[in-house]
Amino acid sequence: MISVSTALSIISKISYLPNIKTIPLKETNGLLLGEDIISPIHMPPFRQSAMDGYALLLHNKNSYQIIGEVKAGDSNNFTLRPGQGVRIFTGARVPDNADTVVIQEKVSRTGDSITIDGPINKNQNIRPVGEQIKKESTALTKGTKLTPAGIGFLAGLGVSNVKIYTAPRVGIITTGNELIPPGSELKEGKIYESNSLQLEAVLTQCNIKEITQYIVQDEYESTKETIRQSIDNNDLVLISGGISVGDYDFVKEALSELHTEELFYKIKQKPGKPLFFGTNNKTMIFALPGNPASSLSCFYIYVLPIIQKMMGVNSIGLTRTSKSITTDFIKKGDRAQFLKAKVSEETVEILEGQSSAMLYTYAIANALVYIPEDMNKIEKGDLVETILLPQ
Ligand code: AMP
Ligand code: MG
Repeated sequence: MISVSTALSIISKISYLPNIKTIPLKETNGLLLGEDIISPIHMPPFRQSAMDGYALLLHNKNSYQIIGEVKAGDSNNFTLRPGQGVRIFTGARVPDNADTVVIQEKVSRTGDSITIDGPINKNQNIRPVGEQIKKESTALTKGTKLTPAGIGFLAGLGVSNVKIYTAPRVGIITTGNELIPPGSELKEGKIYESNSLQLEAVLTQCNIKEITQYIVQDEYESTKETIRQSIDNNDLVLISGGISVGDYDFVKEALSELHTEELFYKIKQKPGKPLFFGTNNKTMIFALPGNPASSLSCFYIYVLPIIQKMMGVNSIGLTRTSKSITTDFIKKGDRAQFLKAKVSEETVEILEGQSSAMLYTYAIANALVYIPEDMNKIEKGDLVETILLPQ
């Protein structure tokens, strides 16, 4: 059995080159750029009027002759003489030799001449060429998460396809003779299966779309065959249950028989002691304990950092912070604990109902408090390591 910190350090040393593919920009929201995007153009590409008004070549009087008009989208250029100007609108091309754009609210017009109230300053209301970004400079760097604004920015540069890190294909194998699907009639000795839905939800939250569900009974041959198939077809396999030491837990044996390289098995922690992590022919495999709360905690603490690596994300795992605890807490035993908790501004409250079989506490928790193995007594007001759950 290894410590939480040893397990986490094994996870942190895993190196993984994420796959990259080119997809249409419109499909990239929430995904990570797999390349630096170099701007193919100056933005704006021409001197652009920022307001509706008049573009002028200045002279020493406050009245000007208007010789034409430029609307947004027009390509024409006027060559102005001092004292001349053109009517211009937001987004339109400013004549090359115009000095300034005066907003229409400051102007009184009679026929083709205008008079300006107040002072006129050079270079006002003109967006210079490349003001936002210059051609050939870096618009967004590799690894940047694309947001609606990021997509808009790149579209504005004329980019239509981008390289992104691809999310792993994930297989979820659910083991257990006692499990029946929600929606069916509950029979004696059976329980509704919840891990597969829970895992699929948390994977979806990570922007993973290719998820395959496998269901297997507690039987050695079919367990082994299903694991073999899922390794062949996925980059990451999450197995739920069957990894403990009961007579009907066949996952560990099947994994060994399939020549899976064991990176760790069993962690000195509560919940989630029987967690297994290994690799098989480039596929990462976690066998998660079947108890629903253990399964989810193991996901957040150990699986998530691996998924982040697989997707090219630099930040590893969930955000950890220090909060002051609202009540005394005595930890029994010598295992580290991840406790379902609720954080408010400065404090964190450990919730009632920490059994690894219970999900109701988890359903209202927004954090996990980490109590290291060598810490047994915590007093109200002490600072504790608090892991914030994604909301
Ligand atoms: P196991 O790890 O297979 O020994 O399962 C530990 C406990 O978790 C048992 O009480 C199982 O009934 C329960 N369990 C296992 N898998 C699931 C699941 N997919 N959904 C809900 N409960 C489960
Ligand atoms: Mg089982």
